[in-house]
Amino acid sequence: MRRIAAVLLIASLNLLSLAFAADGTVLVGYAPRSSQTEREWEAKFRAIPDPSNLREFMRRLSARPHHVGSAYDKENAEWILARFKEWGFDAHIETFDVLFPTPKVRLLEMVEPTKFTAKLDEPALAVDPTSNQKSEQLPTYNAYSVDGDVTAPLVFVNYGLPEDYEQLDRLGISVKGTIVIAKYYHSWRGVKPKVAAEHGAVGCLIYSEPHDDGYSRDDVFPQGPMRNPEGVQRGSVMDFASSSPGDPLTPGVGATPDAKRLPLSEVKSITKIPVLPISYGDAQPLLAKLAGPMAPTEWSGTLPIPYHVGPGPAKVHLKVAFNWDIKPVNDVIAKIPGSSVPDEWIIRGNHHDAWVNGAEDPVAGQSALLEEARALGQLLQQGWRPQRTIVYAAWDGEEPMLLGSTEWAEAHAEELRQHAAVYINSDTNDRGLLLLEGSQSLEQFINGVARDVEDPETKLTVWQRLQLSKIAQAKSAEERKELRQRADLRIGALGSGTDYTAFVDHLGIASLNLGYGVGDEQGIYHSIYDDFYWYTHFSDTDFVYGRAMSQTGGTSVMRLADAQILPFDFVDFADTVQKYTGELEKLLADKQEGIRERNQELDEGVFKATLDPRRPTVAPPREEVPPHLNFAPLRNAVDSLARSAEHYRLALSQQQATLNEAPPASLRALNQLLIESERKLTNDDGLPRRPWYKNLLEAPGVYTGYDAKTIPGVREGIEQKRYAEAEEEIVRVAKALVDESSLIESAAQMLQKPAR
Ligand SMILES: [Zn+2]
Repeated sequence: MRRIAAVLLIASLNLLSLAFAADGTVLVGYAPRSSQTEREWEAKFRAIPDPSNLREFMRRLSARPHHVGSAYDKENAEWILARFKEWGFDAHIETFDVLFPTPKVRLLEMVEPTKFTAKLDEPALAVDPTSNQKSEQLPTYNAYSVDGDVTAPLVFVNYGLPEDYEQLDRLGISVKGTIVIAKYYHSWRGVKPKVAAEHGAVGCLIYSEPHDDGYSRDDVFPQGPMRNPEGVQRGSVMDFASSSPGDPLTPGVGATPDAKRLPLSEVKSITKIPVLPISYGDAQPLLAKLAGPMAPTEWSGTLPIPYHVGPGPAKVHLKVAFNWDIKPVNDVIAKIPGSSVPDEWIIRGNHHDAWVNGAEDPVAGQSALLEEARALGQLLQQGWRPQRTIVYAAWDGEEPMLLGSTEWAEAHAEELRQHAAVYINSDTNDRGLLLLEGSQSLEQFINGVARDVEDPETKLTVWQRLQLSKIAQAKSAEERKELRQRADLRIGALGSGTDYTAFVDHLGIASLNLGYGVGDEQGIYHSIYDDFYWYTHFSDTDFVYGRAMSQTGGTSVMRLADAQILPFDFVDFADTVQKYTGELEKLLADKQEGIRERNQELDEGVFKATLDPRRPTVAPPREEVPPHLNFAPLRNAVDSLARSAEHYRLALSQQQATLNEAPPASLRALNQLLIESERKLTNDDGLPRRPWYKNLLEAPGVYTGYDAKTIPGVREGIEQKRYAEAEEEIVRVAKALVDESSLIESAAQMLQKPAR
């Protein structure tokens, strides 16, 4: 029965999308006449952003190093404030006091079998005019590493992830009491020292491998965009995914002057072992002095050395100590009050602080945001008035770990829960393809925006370019078929690593993350060479993608701020949750099958038979086959979600034409319900062992950090072999989805009431 019902629903859905396509000019959530007016304002808006302004903003903001607490960070905040005021925004700076460690001692030397002292220095380059601002540059380091002084044999651990340690076990190598050296990437960098400490290591080095962002990819800076031998990736190693991002001394509350602060000794998110990032110039002599087994083939990089695992004979001395100071972060907050519904807020943010000069990260994104704001200011002068309140935010302290945005979100949590409809984030910006990530209730909406922005290189829409690129990259016929037939491109789930985190994960505010990029930016990421010279030689050199970013961000803000009904849609959302559920069932089934097979091979003697005595390995341990879990509550909830989502979409399409006759009070009630839809996915108790994370649908993975874990309670329960917990989480998530489904159903009924 259910299957047949589903087929019918799909048939009606196709008719519906045809109806939408036929009069494609009507925006979702707008009456036809209002849609026409909105489109006219949006077209005026998109004509305003000017690459020469973007260039000038970048030159100004990236002229000197501007990390948290620096003189130029404050100057930039004040300069941004003045611009917002000049453009007609009601703007102010909001300051929080946060823990921000900077290095006091950094020493890395090899003491055996030969002596070598690491340079730990990025040299100034004659062609690059800001690379010599030595007195203002933060040295290369990892923020929130604990102080430490350790001497121990070295072990190479690939990317330093849990699966790498399983491989080390197979090689019979323990890292207990050693210092590990891991490659950058494939996880949040803070995961590497976390996993190393869990396995008993006493120190951790993280290096930039040329295979990942150096000469294997392209020429190195300054001849090309990629990382040169001395380039180092600074960055935070805070264990934010297991605890919370933001100021470590004030978890869950704003870091205001009178906030209660934890003593340093009670902070959970500082690493357990000392950590230091190094260049491949400094890493190569250390790696070259490792013996022991050869690293598995896929671990090898492209340094001209054989990659051994160790431990030793290289023995290294690592000493780091930090100034554990409280520093101010200066968030610039700028508002345009809404004309008819001022208590519904559309928030748009990008950070302004950098590790050093940060032309690409974050000034490219910040400049696009500013040009967007300038254009909205011009529209205000021409008579445009947004229906909802628009809040522009230039965050400080993103780099150490989302300090400015998290503290602001925590300090204003109550108001935000009441008023915030959507948060739109951006961060870095380059050239190429549009990155689309966000809450799935906004998937249809952001696909619509992407269909209205022109790609500067191909003159296709950015949506078409993205769709065709995805077809080119697709790995199966099935994937290609979906890309060609599904009305909307799927948007990625939000993990973390940038400022949307507190909004979507802690407060349950539907969020989007946008930006353009191709990958060249990895080569200077968080180094002194991420500056105006690099950007204007190797990235969006004529700032046309900066303009596209302004157009994308601004169109999104306007369309959300002016809609009569917030353009949330739940059909794509229900479809995505169904996909997640399938993935969870497969994850468990694959795990059961994998362990069953391995146990059988142990019985058969496969590992003994295949052992090469010249390259000895250890047989894997026998494991209990995971139990079956009952996914029925989740499946039933997803079915109900799909039904109410279809019902809402249908009701909206039927009522859209007469929206202008709807009494404002009933539209307000409906919009309040829609704003609540992302809140419904949260639970006050939060995720297991990490109560700050309240969104049950997505969170940064404890062992991934940047990458999202969707339905994290269940997924990580299975991955971490906590099967009873996974089963409880299925029930908790199912309940949230049933509540969500009732909310959507109420919204549909509200639309259909004849006496609106
Ligand atoms: Zn950034």
